[in-house]
Amino acid sequence: MSNENTTVTIHIEEAHKSHRIGWLRAAVLGANDGIVSTASLIVGIAAGEYISVSSQADTENADLELEKKALQENEAYEKEELAQIYEARGIKPELAKEVASQLMEHDALDAHARDELGITEGGKSNPIEAALSSAASFTVGAAMPLLTAWLVPQEQLIISVSVASLLFLAVLGAIAAKAGGASMTKGAIRVTFWGALAMGLTAAVGQLFGVVA
Ligand SMILES: [Zn+2]
Repeated sequence: MSNENTTVTIHIEEAHKSHRIGWLRAAVLGANDGIVSTASLIVGIAAGEYISVSSQADTENADLELEKKALQENEAYEKEELAQIYEARGIKPELAKEVASQLMEHDALDAHARDELGITEGGKSNPIEAALSSAASFTVGAAMPLLTAWLVPQEQLIISVSVASLLFLAVLGAIAAKAGGASMTKGAIRVTFWGALAMGLTAAVGQLFGVVA
């Protein structure tokens, strides 16, 4: 009799434990997914930016090396080339030659870098700076829908996150347009339209796979 009782108790405890483990497992896996996918996105964005700006910087450095060599090997040709650039910008031939001469006496490579290649000291590409600033702005952007999801009731999650994100996009689009001197309304509409399309497509794909699974 007492033996039977013990068996029953053990079974109940095991059932409770496995129930708790199932719930905990799902929670841990969910959190894992959140950490891994968000971290991968941030790292991916930063790495992508680093690579793209690095290759831009490599191109700039290679151009500067070529220019340095050309200046050493054929100064007269380079002076003429620079004078023609100034002429094309509307300076009279005589003065253009004079400007080219004086600028090249001052700093030949700097003059060619700026006026021929369009590379300025302050405007040189910095991969690390670009990667850090993309990662930071990505993180701020990612926090917006996350905060919304955190604050709204569960049952309104999808609609709230969609509407709030489109609002954030509209504001960003307007700011970007203003910074670039374009129409704020057009900027807001364009960014919101593409954002809505991207979210709609993602939702459609999610539903498709949700149904199949
Ligand atoms: Zn040149």
